[in-house]
Amino acid sequence: MPFRISSRTIITRIIAVQIIAGFVGYLFGNVYFALALTSFGLLLWNYSHLFKLMDWLWQGTSISPPQARGIWGRIYDGLYHRIRKQRKKQKQLNERIRKFRDGAEALPDAAIVLSTELTILWGNKKASQLIGIRWPGDVGQRIDNLIRFPEFAKYLDDGNYESPCLIISPVNSELQLELRMMSYGSDQILLLARDISKIQRLEEMRRDFVANVSHELKTPLTVVRGYVEMVQLDESALTPHWQKAFATIETQVSRMDRLVDQLLVLSRVENKAEDDSLQQVDLSRLILAIVEDVQWLNQEKNHTISDNIAADIQVNGNEHELKSACMNLLSNAIAYTPENGVIDVSLTSDGNKVRFSVKDNGPGIKPEHVNRLTERFFRVDKSRSRNTGGSGLGLAIVKHVLNHHHAELAIESEWNKGSEFIIYFTIKNA
Ligand code: ADP
Repeated sequence: MPFRISSRTIITRIIAVQIIAGFVGYLFGNVYFALALTSFGLLLWNYSHLFKLMDWLWQGTSISPPQARGIWGRIYDGLYHRIRKQRKKQKQLNERIRKFRDGAEALPDAAIVLSTELTILWGNKKASQLIGIRWPGDVGQRIDNLIRFPEFAKYLDDGNYESPCLIISPVNSELQLELRMMSYGSDQILLLARDISKIQRLEEMRRDFVANVSHELKTPLTVVRGYVEMVQLDESALTPHWQKAFATIETQVSRMDRLVDQLLVLSRVENKAEDDSLQQVDLSRLILAIVEDVQWLNQEKNHTISDNIAADIQVNGNEHELKSACMNLLSNAIAYTPENGVIDVSLTSDGNKVRFSVKDNGPGIKPEHVNRLTERFFRVDKSRSRNTGGSGLGLAIVKHVLNHHHAELAIESEWNKGSEFIIYFTIKNA
């Protein structure tokens, strides 16, 4: 219960005591002595409580303060009240921390709490199993002293925690870990590590399967195609019915052949390590050559293809892959834009950013489809795409090629108005 004694009351009480002491002194014939004795008594009383308070604060084992009456009793009660309030708060806080830790222990992932200086504050049991970080043994150690991988050091240096960092577990080389870091609270960082070995193995199996099947299909397709072409050489020996049948076989085999080729390209770019041997590529020259090359593709559709290509733009990359990615955007624009359309190709640079764009006035793409375009086998309109010979693999290949080049694909499209496919390259050390 809050209790206050005003300074006025205290002064009134002291004056009252002194008046009584003065009166008693007067009765005994020595007012000054009586006043001095009372003041000394008051001082002694206060000092004795100060010493009691000091003893209790520094040496006392019980939380109950010494007993007293009057103002000192109130001071002790106030202190006792505060201590109990503090203890209650601490208990609640401990309970919250315990709940947070229980929750973090129940996580299937390793969770490590770091300070902003990247020193370890806490880690769950999974952190010890997956990364070998023990709590409380490793508290105060810097995380990069315990996870010593160049890719992790680079991840910390870059300070861009939006994408995860992949490492091999420091305690078990068979485990692949995905690390994610995020700031939380005002001065803490949470590091989560997930075992992705199974997902990686499945992904590898899928890639190997596609690559092997495509490779195995290549030989029989070549044989069938060879025989069909051989038979077609002497078409006069065939009845019109068989001529039509063989023409259909030839078209379908060619389609399948193209699909298998694209699957092989996709598995190659998917499996490729990121730091593959890259060289300076003259992008301006490459794009000009592509615009020339696609003229034969444009014969049927007769689009107006205009180009605005800045000279001498160089990027670091793989020329063959870059050519296939840029060619894909241009051939899509030609294929999906109705006859006599307008296609603008442009290549510009601004500082260390290079922008390559292919813009058409074709049918456009609905917003709900735009995000799915780079998925394997995704085609907006399957029948139309089939007529154009599309497999739905082209933009998936583009996406993987651009990943190798740390470039980005942006798609801007308006339904019934047209689409623009833009590649943004970032030139390092420009
Ligand atoms: P495909 O081999 O079918 O062309 P892509 O992966 O290159 O495969 O393209 C995926 C789908 O995106 C296409 O099937 C088509 O529906 C759509 N698309 C791509 N480019 C354009 C474009 N310029 N205009 C309209 N639709 C497009």
